[in-house]
Amino acid sequence: KKLNVALIFGGKSGEHEVSLSSTASIYKHIDKDKYNVFTIGITKDGRWMYYEGNEENIKNGEWVNLANKNVEINLVPVGNREVGLVFEDGRVEKMDVLFPVLHGPYGEDGTIQGLFEISQIPYVGCGVLASSVGMDKLVCKKVFSQIGLPQVDYTYTTKWSFNKNEDQELNSIESKLKYPIFVKPANLGSSVGISKACNREELLKGINEALQFDSRVVLEQGVNAREIEVAVLGNDEVKASIAGEIKPAKDFYDYEDKYINGASTYDIPANISDEDMENIRQMAIEAFKGIDGKGLSRVDFFKDKETGEIFINEINTLPGFTNISMYPKMWEATGLEYSNLIDRLIDLAIDAKK
Ligand code: ADP
Ligand code: MG
Ligand code: MG
Repeated sequence: KKLNVALIFGGKSGEHEVSLSSTASIYKHIDKDKYNVFTIGITKDGRWMYYEGNEENIKNGEWVNLANKNVEINLVPVGNREVGLVFEDGRVEKMDVLFPVLHGPYGEDGTIQGLFEISQIPYVGCGVLASSVGMDKLVCKKVFSQIGLPQVDYTYTTKWSFNKNEDQELNSIESKLKYPIFVKPANLGSSVGISKACNREELLKGINEALQFDSRVVLEQGVNAREIEVAVLGNDEVKASIAGEIKPAKDFYDYEDKYINGASTYDIPANISDEDMENIRQMAIEAFKGIDGKGLSRVDFFKDKETGEIFINEINTLPGFTNISMYPKMWEATGLEYSNLIDRLIDLAIDAKK
């Protein structure tokens, strides 16, 4: 029997467009002989709509105008209503697996995963805890340091303490870190709100900017580093792909480079020693297990260009799946082709519920 799989895309986050690209790519590669694919879009203002049509219109945003607003999307069991898609003629399609192809807040941070738990339908990827920890750069650092993973030095400030005494906060940050300092909102992704500060003036500006996105801001020691990434896949038995290296076109790997012009280049496998490769793959698995990861994640590292030291940067529980994304590419290089990767993710979703 064919499984009903719902790709849930778009969303109320700064990474809405990235999700559209990821979804178009998954839609293209998912094996339609095995799955009935249903596409459910979430608009930028948070409305859920059923869309039936081609991937081009998902990618270019046209789906919003083409969505069938009369199909009800019931994910929460209410009274004797059935959970699933309810069509105009009364037909109900139950979903076997939900696949959130969402990035950032409300998609990758555990909120939608909580809704999926309540729906009792198996879903692709990490659960509530791993998603929320992975999305929060500050809490995640605390978990990584507890399990002994190497990280760059960091500190943080909050809107409340920063507004109370700006100078004191800046002094305190400068006493802990040297310039350049990376300024990041705690709870975001895709480089949104992130800046590199080379002096106090830029630090102040960067913090104020980051505070637009979150009330907690992480400050990190900037390192001159190569960026190495690993794809992780599994539930209890976790596998790590061959690591790859991203070579940003600009000073750092920003939103535009990641998703718009794609000017960066990459090496898969990364050109590093066997020892580094092994170490990085092992640490990626530890990081994933450390946050109670399920399904998939992409774990990102820095390799200091001067000292060769390796630091874990972050874990992304719903990494990009666009045609220029590293996650599917690294699996392909490891011998797992895109559509088989999607099969694995769906199998893992079902297994996690057993
Ligand atoms: P996001 O979750 O938005 O991807 P990252 O923490 O990965 O945020 O930061 C985005 C990019 O900024 C990184 O890929 C890297 O190019 C650069 N960067 C972030 N932190 C540092 C740092 N401490 N030192 C040097 N570069 C950094
Ligand atoms: Mg991230
Ligand atoms: Mg990143």
